[in-house]
Amino acid sequence: MLRRILGKVFSGKSLFKAAHPRVIARKVHGIERDHISRGATQTCETLQKSGHAAYVVGGAVRDLMLGRAPKDYDVATSASPEQVRALFRRSRIIGRRFRLVHVMFGAETIEVSTFRGSVEAGAVDSRQATDEHGRILRDNVFGSLEDDARRRDFTVNALFYDPVREEVLDFHNGAADLKAKKLRMIGEPTLRYREDPVRMLRAVRLAAGLGLEIEHGTRKPIRALAELLQNVPQARVFDEMMKLLLSGHAAEAVRRLRKEGLHHGLMPVLDAILEQPLGERFVMSALENTDRRVNADKPVSPGFLFAALLWHQVLEAWKKATARGVKTMPALFEAMDQVSQEQAEKLAIPRRYSADMKEIWALQPRFENRSGRRPFTLLEHPRFRAAFDFLLLRCASAELDPALGKWWQSFQDADPEARTEMLVAPTPGDAKKRRRPRRKKRVAPAADAAPTG
Ligand code: ATP
Ligand code: MG
Repeated sequence: MLRRILGKVFSGKSLFKAAHPRVIARKVHGIERDHISRGATQTCETLQKSGHAAYVVGGAVRDLMLGRAPKDYDVATSASPEQVRALFRRSRIIGRRFRLVHVMFGAETIEVSTFRGSVEAGAVDSRQATDEHGRILRDNVFGSLEDDARRRDFTVNALFYDPVREEVLDFHNGAADLKAKKLRMIGEPTLRYREDPVRMLRAVRLAAGLGLEIEHGTRKPIRALAELLQNVPQARVFDEMMKLLLSGHAAEAVRRLRKEGLHHGLMPVLDAILEQPLGERFVMSALENTDRRVNADKPVSPGFLFAALLWHQVLEAWKKATARGVKTMPALFEAMDQVSQEQAEKLAIPRRYSADMKEIWALQPRFENRSGRRPFTLLEHPRFRAAFDFLLLRCASAELDPALGKWWQSFQDADPEARTEMLVAPTPGDAKKRRRPRRKKRVAPAADAAPTG
């Protein structure tokens, strides 16, 4: 009780709290042991039986306390990576910057990390290194449970759940912040962002995904420090962006990125696009569409997403090339190459995604053709579905006449005979009179229809 009162008096002074975690009992934290992954509880039990401390940590505890199902489970332990490795037959040590152990249970992988500590300020230690901006390059100094809690990013991410005792340890008032829907950095925010600028992106992603408000002091330094993200290796920023885009809250997260001034230089695609009204509408509806799919547990193709994010840059380059007199398809390919090359310099989109992305783009002009055999061939294309969904996005953003999307929807739904009936005459002059006359609504021929962006 005394501790609780003092905890309140000293709230914000993490040193005091760090030494005395608040112990939250089962009926308060509400986590049901049975709802936790077997792999996570088994990992903790095995480690504890061998005399080590072991807790479920991080996002999983936070999500469980919010009544959400965690995506994955992390375990923190006093055992060294080698000791963990020796206890689990199906496990391996990974990572350089941050060594940890993956323990496998069937299809599930539990990430087990040894409690992190830090070397004394000013001390030189090969296990921990920073660059000239204060960014942590290596972080393999081990420490105590308290040290580990202090090195985590946000208070709500520093909750430790012991599945054996069914208790949550809270060193930094994370449970109270969670209840108050606040995302608060542990320690001094500016310093913590300098150590790892990706924390700025994490703040925005977590806040958007969990419906939390970024606490004032945590939020304030972001704008001024945003440029530090330029020093982070591309692959890490890419991973974090993928997490954000596939979180099921991408539209909200991108809105918040802009609000915090984080979209510039982060994803060049966002820079260029969000500035133009048509592009913005397109990107936001692509993100909303992705969010709906993620939340309905439908698969989302990153290739599709990148195709959408970059489309308006392609459109613009396509328009320019046709204006120079290049024919529709060669102009589109030229634009595609140009945009993917520019992107490759700034954001390393893995080849497997960029191949899908280009295929989706390349199929677009083929939707303009609704006569003869061509619509039937397109329907059988293995990427038809993705390309069609993409067409619908273009229609929804007013780039194309929605009638074109509707036509393709009906064409797919119709039986073969009715499909033939639906075909549009190749040119007005030579077509026989059909029952359904050619509609005015046909979107203008590809050459001038495409580059309207
Ligand atoms: P998600 O729901 O996306 O998995 P998460 O918070 O679990 O969110 P992870 O990347 O799985 O994110 O990280 C697990 C935990 O590791 C975090 O909850 C946090 O305690 C700690 N952590 C992760 N990244 C950082 C970081 N950049 N700096 C400090 N602590 C971090
Ligand atoms: Mg996690």
